[in-house]
Amino acid sequence: MRKIMLAAAVAATVLHGPARSHDLSVQPAEAPAAQPLPIAPNVEGSLPTPEDGYFQVPEQVTEGVWLLRQPRFQVQPIGNVAVIEQADGLVLVDSGGSPGAGRRIVDMVREISPKPVKAVVITHWHGDHPQGLSAILEAWPNARTIATVQTQTHLVTPATMNTPGAPDPARNAAFQQQIQGFVGYIRQMGANARTDYGRANWAAGERLMNQYALDMDGALTLPVQEGVADRLVIDDAERPVEVLYLGRANTDGDAVIWLPRQRIVAAGDIVVHPFPYGFGSYPGEWIETFGRLKALGFETLIPGHGPVLQGTAYVDQVIAALEDVRAQVTPLAEAGVPLDQIMSRTDFSAQRTGFVGEDPWQTRWFNDFWLQPIVTAAYREARGEPIIQSLNPG
Ligand SMILES: [Zn+2]
Repeated sequence: MRKIMLAAAVAATVLHGPARSHDLSVQPAEAPAAQPLPIAPNVEGSLPTPEDGYFQVPEQVTEGVWLLRQPRFQVQPIGNVAVIEQADGLVLVDSGGSPGAGRRIVDMVREISPKPVKAVVITHWHGDHPQGLSAILEAWPNARTIATVQTQTHLVTPATMNTPGAPDPARNAAFQQQIQGFVGYIRQMGANARTDYGRANWAAGERLMNQYALDMDGALTLPVQEGVADRLVIDDAERPVEVLYLGRANTDGDAVIWLPRQRIVAAGDIVVHPFPYGFGSYPGEWIETFGRLKALGFETLIPGHGPVLQGTAYVDQVIAALEDVRAQVTPLAEAGVPLDQIMSRTDFSAQRTGFVGEDPWQTRWFNDFWLQPIVTAAYREARGEPIIQSLNPG
């Protein structure tokens, strides 16, 4: 059991964000040895089919606004990309999670409009949102790059990011080796699965990780040029875009992209469907940030993952989940109950059923991507301990 938990935590840490917060005093992992490891992307394994729902597909949100998204939840998610047409070019919200995803995004954007990409707004630093930027800028080198000042800093901080700022064969090989380790874990889980449903999901997970290995070959984390403290406007007669910082939430620097004339908001991973992600998050401030998000008066919400949402019903569900976590965890944390006993002394079955019903596959990842990290975050918040933004285990 311990081994399984460890592997899942490692997987989540490698692939999306930290499964638990790390102490500020812990130094980042040492730089890898100069000698490159003999690991290449896996090109022999089976790759995803369109039915697996790994590859993003375009859909129109309204006139002049499109969403590129994965059709369903994936073990290794790719952040949603919104495309907003202005008179003199396109504004992208996020860039995909890898150079490979970024290249596919370039192709989809060119199908949508002949106009150039004039700006890319990165909503937050988690790798599934900025790591396609290298491919986007290869296609449109003059595009502005924008994020909050917090995210701008994270993207150039080696202790935060798990891919280098410049080509580094040794780090690339080490990252590929981490992916192959996760492929091995997935294969083992599939072999141990007791149902056809479980086996089918693990097999699809293995296919997507093979693709992810190809997509991440040579991945870089590039800096963004413009940092937003609280508001930046990319003006346009039809579709002005406001880049807003409304407070800490999913990360310490989530950007919110607001189209006041269309009443559309792109919320990054402040809102993720079908269930939220809670890596390195700020539960109390997240609820306050939701208050400011709702005060915009949006009608349509583009989440960081998942389909376009209408109205505030799903946002209210996530707020209630955050309130539930804080209400259960805070008294235990204040009473000095150790973190590793919190799960056995709380009951989140009601919110779990609300997000994923009885689906065993989604339940597993609801626990890994949401419940465990957000409970840890609420525990640290209650005890006044820092929440660390880092993909690098200390
Ligand atoms: Zn994400």
